[in-house]
Amino acid sequence: MLPVDETNESAYSFVVFGASGRLALSKIFPALWQLYRDNLLPQGTKIFTFCRSQLELAKFRIKCVPYMRLDRERDPVKYNSFWSNVHCCCGSYDNPQDYVELRESMVRQETKHNMTLANRIFYLATPPVVFDHVTLNISRKCLSMTGWNRVIVEKPFARNELTFKPYQTQLTQIFKESQIYMIDHYLSKRVIQNFFVLRFTNWIWSETWSNKHIAAVMISVKCDKPVQSRADYFNQFGIIRDVMTNDMMQLLAMLTIEQPYSNYVEDMRDEKLKVLKQILTLDMSDLVLGQYCNNGMETDPVKVGYTQHSYIPKNSVTPTFAMAVLHIKSKRWTGVPFILRVGKALNESKTEIRVQYKPMDCDRSEGIKSLPNELVLRLSPKEELFMRMMMKKPGEEQLCLREAQLNLMTRERGSVLGNYQSLLLDIFAGNQMLFMRTDEQCEIWRIFSPVLAYIDVERPDPLPYDFGSRGPIAAYELARRNGFKFY
Ligand code: NDP
Repeated sequence: MLPVDETNESAYSFVVFGASGRLALSKIFPALWQLYRDNLLPQGTKIFTFCRSQLELAKFRIKCVPYMRLDRERDPVKYNSFWSNVHCCCGSYDNPQDYVELRESMVRQETKHNMTLANRIFYLATPPVVFDHVTLNISRKCLSMTGWNRVIVEKPFARNELTFKPYQTQLTQIFKESQIYMIDHYLSKRVIQNFFVLRFTNWIWSETWSNKHIAAVMISVKCDKPVQSRADYFNQFGIIRDVMTNDMMQLLAMLTIEQPYSNYVEDMRDEKLKVLKQILTLDMSDLVLGQYCNNGMETDPVKVGYTQHSYIPKNSVTPTFAMAVLHIKSKRWTGVPFILRVGKALNESKTEIRVQYKPMDCDRSEGIKSLPNELVLRLSPKEELFMRMMMKKPGEEQLCLREAQLNLMTRERGSVLGNYQSLLLDIFAGNQMLFMRTDEQCEIWRIFSPVLAYIDVERPDPLPYDFGSRGPIAAYELARRNGFKFY
């Protein structure tokens, strides 16, 4: 984490657009409070909400209660003082005058203590429909002329290659790349950062990290819940756009990049772009789509099929499950399938990466059965990083093998920052290492746009799978055909 460029002359305004929404209430405000509680926010930080809902401070504070309860009871004085730094503005996203009022509210706070520099962060926690209005009005009415300006944008980053161009143009006409923070929720996980160090500082991993030793890789984002919140958005965007074309592709890029020239952020992002450029465009033959259904045996009223939800159109063909096999054309990765699996209403909730090594040629002697090594990076429900290896069975006279897990995740001492907290702190500090650059997203759309166009136009029927199952059988056949083994 870089230190925040804090000086006594700097004021910081943090503006949350769409502050009445789920993301702001459940993630952004709890993270801001925890940073404040731990004295990690720069002094002089003021927080501003902006939304259409008429939410004055007292009402807004009550809305936040369910997400902050435990922490606020621990330190009520500090909790009250946190709220004295929050200022609520109501307005329409397309009304320039409301942005003038927001600016005046910021200026009032920024000039209160004779601060000479006003630094501003704008967090767009709003649905994509208001993206154009908000960015345009920020640029016309709210940019600071004396300090820096930064903008945080949330997925979805447009719908495809075509619609991303105007999105990118709009953003980059107002902000320089160095001011844009395209947030990704997975890269800040400790396990990913631990793995990065593991790979580039240890011979065992740096030497075996290629098609010579690796047979297949699977990245999974499994969720056991049905589509509930933001159902309209989900039905329009589908599971591929919701998770694959952003979070999962960032994980894939981090896993496969060459060693960056230096620790400088742009060197890292250049390497991510390079590997994304080497990924071949996805073909429909490498994709299985599914949609959860009720097999008639399930009596739990929550476990209904996707199109049986009252909030989903009956004829919807939106996939709630997808498995895609991607191929990278490079000396290091040609021949290794990268299988992305994502789904709702599955048998479990889990996010992980499994890297399967090729089997070793040691199965000849009878009684010695060896399983290939597997590296597992688990991001949730609990962060884990371990290698599945073969060892001798203890206590046996004969040479019998057993599988053992080499745990590679060290327990951190002291308090560890949550993902959201550390991402917000990075933004205050101007550290873009864990954020995507717009040209990376452009490449990702290049990979997925042809299949997405096919799905949008042809509306193929997704394969049905039972609520609570592992997804369509055809997906597992696809993974097996690509050499992935389910042990
Ligand atoms: P919401 O749908 O809750 O929207 C946030 C706020 O935006 C609402 O409270 C509302 O505020 C305003 N809003 C909603 N719909 C419209 C509309 N049609 N026109 C104008 N304003 C509208 O979204 P979330 O808070 O869940 O998410 C915000 C953004 O972050 C979205 O882009 C989402 O895709 C993304 N995201 C969310 C995640 C989550 O966990 N929730 C995870 C990852 C990304 P008001 O009417 O008061 O102005």
